[in-house]
Amino acid sequence: MQFPREVIVGEGTLESVGEISRRLGFTESALIIAGSKTFGIAGKRVKELLEEKEGMAVETFLVENATARDVEAVEEKIESLRPQIVFAVGGGTKIDVAKCSSANQGIPFISVPTTASHDGIASPLSSIKGSEKPYSVMAQAPLAIVADTRIIMRAPWRYAVSGCEDVIAKFTAVKDWKLAHEDKNEYYGGYAASLALMSAKHVMQNVGLMKTKSEEGLRILLEALISCGVSMSIAGSSRPCSGSEHLFSHALDVIRPNHAMHGERCGVGTIMMTYLHGGNWKRIRDDLKKLGAPTNARQLGVEKEDVLRALKMAKSIRPDRYTILNKLGLRRESYEYLAKVTEVI
Ligand SMILES: [Zn+2]
Repeated sequence: MQFPREVIVGEGTLESVGEISRRLGFTESALIIAGSKTFGIAGKRVKELLEEKEGMAVETFLVENATARDVEAVEEKIESLRPQIVFAVGGGTKIDVAKCSSANQGIPFISVPTTASHDGIASPLSSIKGSEKPYSVMAQAPLAIVADTRIIMRAPWRYAVSGCEDVIAKFTAVKDWKLAHEDKNEYYGGYAASLALMSAKHVMQNVGLMKTKSEEGLRILLEALISCGVSMSIAGSSRPCSGSEHLFSHALDVIRPNHAMHGERCGVGTIMMTYLHGGNWKRIRDDLKKLGAPTNARQLGVEKEDVLRALKMAKSIRPDRYTILNKLGLRRESYEYLAKVTEVI
């Protein structure tokens, strides 16, 4: 199991990156991976702190996407510079690229999220577009996480809502994992499952606080996202955090690329998959509504037909991942019924 060694969440924590780097033994060189926007938001400050206060040699590499080509470009940079440590500064995509490329090059990385939109900020898995697999694969866990709530608060609140939905998705992810254990004798880690579930419950219990868009709410969300990342480290896979609702989300992203955020698609998936599992789907939907999250096709910005196609495609996205969708083996009419009865279409 790989875990982060230092996790620092709170207001103004960015200022401690130099100290953390020193404590972990990185005093000479670093490479910062950021987007052009996130470099301005936090990357520049990380560079200043490492260079001026720690006297480190710091290079920057800006990426805009999370494609296999971006990973290759970053790997080339790492190969030529051989930095001691990589800092991943940004939202999901920048962290994914830094995580994947540093893992391939055998160099540790420190996660400095500028948004709280999904659990990739702390997980050992990364999702790379244009790769054969439209889902997350094992890379490495961050050595440290520095989540500065003052910076993350500046991102549009929609990102935090998406993060909440990615956490709420664990309700069905864990149900699917248990089902795979019962039906297919797949390994099931009760502790990892409980940790993911606890994070989901914690976020649900604090929906009221999330609505206030407060720093305290954001902190709860970050703790939940980081716990989800740890649960994947314990499980050694994304199983506790990604089930049929994620398969639906991935399928919808294949059909309608970049139409909604990861968490938003997962949230709508969770409503429908909870119905299939015989759970209280209305409660999930009502909590998502309270958060101001999308709960139907129109709000996701997709067509009804896209939802039906995604439901049909979901199983085939990842054939090795057994979920309620495999168990039920529904036909198109049943998917239509499901989407209608849950008011997604
Ligand atoms: Zn997710």
